[in-house]
Amino acid sequence: MTDFRRIEDAGDLTGKTALVRVDFNVPMADGKVTDGTRLHAALATVNALREQNARVALLAHFGRPKGDRVPEMSLKPIAAAFAEVLGAPVTFIDDCVGGFVEDELAKLVPGDVALLENTRYHAGEEINDPDMADQMAQLGDIFVSDAFSASHRAHVSTVGLATQLPAYAGKSMERELDALEAALGKPERPVLAVVGGAKVSSKIELLKNLVSKVDALAIGGGMANTFLAARGYSVGKSLCEHDLTDTAREIERNAKAAGCDILLPIDVVVAKDFAANAANRTCGLDEVADNEMILDAGIQTVAILATALDTAKTLVWNGPLGAFEMEPFDRATVLAAQAAALRCKNGDLIAVAGGGDTVAALNHAKAAGDFTHISTAGGAFLEWMEGKPLPGVEALKS
Ligand code: AMP
Repeated sequence: MTDFRRIEDAGDLTGKTALVRVDFNVPMADGKVTDGTRLHAALATVNALREQNARVALLAHFGRPKGDRVPEMSLKPIAAAFAEVLGAPVTFIDDCVGGFVEDELAKLVPGDVALLENTRYHAGEEINDPDMADQMAQLGDIFVSDAFSASHRAHVSTVGLATQLPAYAGKSMERELDALEAALGKPERPVLAVVGGAKVSSKIELLKNLVSKVDALAIGGGMANTFLAARGYSVGKSLCEHDLTDTAREIERNAKAAGCDILLPIDVVVAKDFAANAANRTCGLDEVADNEMILDAGIQTVAILATALDTAKTLVWNGPLGAFEMEPFDRATVLAAQAAALRCKNGDLIAVAGGGDTVAALNHAKAAGDFTHISTAGGAFLEWMEGKPLPGVEALKS
C-alpha cells in the first residue's frame, strides 16, 4: 500500500467542512459538458464525505484565466452538470476565497455540496501564494485532494492547502496512486514498459527513468526510428530526430548497464505518403527506401511483443506503436493492446497506461476496459513516469 493519508484516516467528519480539490476541467461545447468522465470520477469521494455528514466544498480550475475573471471560464455550468451526475443539488458559489464564500458555506448543512468558482481566477493560485492558502484554509476543516491530474503543479489548491489543513487523498487520487505504485513502485516482476509516440525529445527523461526500473522496454512509434537510425539503419523519410542519435545510444547503454532489455522493431510497415490507407508494405529494417517512411511496426515485431507480454507480470504503457489514427497503421498498437488486455482479463497481468494519446489509442483498440488502470492525467502521468516527485502527492504523504 502506498504511503499517504486517506479519507479513512480523517476520523469523525460530522459537521466538518471538507475542501475537496477535483478535476472539473471538462471538455465543453455550447455551454454543455461533452464528456463527463471527470465528473463521474469525483463521485466516490463526494459520496464518501456526504455519508460521513461532512459539508463538501469543491475546488477546481477551468481553462487558463491566468488570474482574471474570464467569464467563459466560469465553473457555473459545471455545477449544474455535476448536480445531475450526483443526483443532488450543488450550490454554486461565485468565488473561492474571502468572507463572501465563508458566509455562503455557512448556509450549507451537513451532506450538502457546493462548487466554488475557478481557483485560477486568482493570481495567487498558480504561484502557491501563502496568503491565499491561508485565506482559503479558513473555509474548511480538512483538505481532500482528488485531482491527480493537477498534482504535478504546486498551486494553492494542490499543495498550499495541504500545508494549512489536515490533508488526505480522495478516492480517485487513491486509486491512481495505488495503481502507479503497483506498476513502478513495488511491481510484480518482470515489468515490461511499452513506450511509443512521435518523438524521443519529449520523452528523454521518461526513457532514462524507465530503463533503470523495468526489466524490458519496448520502443515503438516515430521515436523508435531515432533508435534505429542510431543503430545504423537508414529510415528514409521517416519521422526521426537525427540530432538525438547520441541520446538514443546513451539510453541503450544505460539500459544495458541496468539489465533492461530494449526491444526495438525488427520489421516495419512503410509507405510513401503520410495518409490513411496509403499504399504500404512490410519490410525488414535494412529495406526501407529513401522515399519511404516507417508508419507502424510489423507483424514479427508484434509477435516479439506478445512473447514479452506472455512472461511479463506488470505492464506500463505510454504512446502508440505507430500512426494509429490512420488505418492500417494502427495494427501493431491494436494487436499489442489487445494481447495485453486479454492477459489482464485472465488475471495474469497488471497493466497501467496513460499520457497523451495513449487513452485514445487503447480506446481505439477496444482494450482500455480490460486494463488494470488507465490514467487520464496527461502531464502528471508523464512526470510520474519520469520519476519526478509530484508536489501535490508529496503533500499527502504520511
Ligand atoms: P505522443 O504524443 O508523443 O505519444 O505521440 C503520439 C503521436 O505519434 C500520434 O499522433 C501518432 O500518430 C504519432 N506516431 C506514432 N508513430 C509514428 C510514426 N511512425 N510516424 C509518425 N508519427 C507517428
